[in-house]
Formats: sequence, C-alpha cells, structure tokens
Amino acid sequence: MNIVNIKKPQFILGFIFGVLVATIAAIFIFGRLTYASQVVQTKEVLRAISDEKIFPAKFSSRPPVLWKEITNKKVVALTFDDGPDPRYTPKILAILKKENVKASFFVVGKNVERFPQLARNEQQAGHLIGNHTWNHALLIKKSQRQIKANLKLTAEILKDNHIKMARFFRPPYGALSDKLFRAVASSGYQVVLWTDEMHELRFPSAQADARAVADDVEPGTIILAHDGRGRHFAELSALPYLIKLLKQRGYKFVRLDQMPVNVLTKTPPVLPPNS
Ligand SMILES: [Zn+2]
Repeated sequence: MNIVNIKKPQFILGFIFGVLVATIAAIFIFGRLTYASQVVQTKEVLRAISDEKIFPAKFSSRPPVLWKEITNKKVVALTFDDGPDPRYTPKILAILKKENVKASFFVVGKNVERFPQLARNEQQAGHLIGNHTWNHALLIKKSQRQIKANLKLTAEILKDNHIKMARFFRPPYGALSDKLFRAVASSGYQVVLWTDEMHELRFPSAQADARAVADDVEPGTIILAHDGRGRHFAELSALPYLIKLLKQRGYKFVRLDQMPVNVLTKTPPVLPPNS
C-alpha cells in the first residue's frame, strides 16, 4: 500500500507533464503546418502571376500589382509594415529623420487605434501611409465583402485621427486572390508588394544584411522592412548602414507616390513573402 501511495502523485505529475508536452507539440506542429500552407499558397500565386499564360485565367481582373518600378532613375522606396508599434516606430522615425529619408508605412488599423500619435508622427515627418488591413488577416481566406470591410476599418481609423491615407494597399503575407483583387480594385487601391526584403536573421550580422539588400537594389526597387511584430526587429540595426550604402551608390529614397511611373511588372519577389 505504501508503494502505491508514493507512486500515485508521481504518476499524476507524470501524466500532467505528458499532456502538457503533447499539447505544446500539437500547437507547434499545427502552427508550422498553417504557416507552410500559407507560404505554398503564396508561392503558387506568385508563380501564376509571373507566368503570362496563367495570369489572365488565374486573375480575371488583371490586377495592377506593383513589385518594382520600371525606371532608369536611381530611386529606391523603403517600406515599413505592421506598425505603428511604440517599441520600433519611434526608432525608425529617428533614423529616417537623421538620414533625411522619406519612406512609406503600411499600417495595421488595430495598431493605429492603439497608438494614433505614432501614425500622426509618421505623417508629420512627411512619410506616406498605406493600408495593411485592420488585423493583419490572411485575406485569401475571406470573401470579397469581408476584405472590403477589413480595409475600410483601417481607412476609417486613420480618417478619425485626421491622418491622410494614400490609396496603396499591401496584403499581409503578400497573399493574393481573385476576390482580393476585385475587393481592392473596387475600393480604389493600388496593390503594392516588394522587390527585396530586409531580414538580418538570415545573415551573420546587420551589416551583412544591409550589404545583401543593397547589392540587389536596382532603380525602382521597393524594399520591405517592418516596424511592428517583434520577430523582424534585428533589422533595425541594419537600417542606417543600408541607407548610407545606397546613398553612396547614388540612390535617392522616395515615397511610393514619388516613384517616377506606376507600371505593372511581372517579376515576383526573390524571397518568399514574409510581410
Ligand atoms: Zn505584414
């Protein structure tokens, strides 16, 4: 009897531990699978867009997606997604001010609701503000009506705070669908993706990331970076170095609405979408 009494609590503890481990493993595996399926879907869409034969059938509305400007002028656009965020947006604004660079911010409406002053600061500093949905939802799973309602919420919270929004829209994860194109086109937005992405975590150092991005920059390149969602934030330290490198190479930083022309290019981003 003594042995049973001693082992019983151990058994219960062991059982609880086992259930915990199994739950954590299940959450992790589900998360990876969901993420993987999003990436695969997005890659398929990008492949479809880059293939002119599939393009008209896949997307009947022939969307004017902007990946990169076609221009001979040495201009480059810096874009920041997922903010505003008090941890990162003020630091990015300070770097841009110090370097006298204008950029474009794709804001998440929910974050504007929480931190309206940060979005006002972006506007007052002369940066452009575009729409990155209300809640960073994966819109390809939504109906046309839901997509329009989602975008409208962000437009309204900006308007309520007297912040001017440019009609530029960047879909979370770069994920596109026919319904999304129809919704966005009828709401009067230009869809903007990106040519190149800052992501220091893939490189040994901030400077290595900045150099890798700078080496890929061509006239009209649109660079994706983030001022929200913590996992991206190694790139903050790469930003001043990237700006200096590109200035040395004769590039001028412009906002998306200051790009010389708006032309659809069918070149998909080199890196998997991560926005
Ligand atoms: Zn995003």
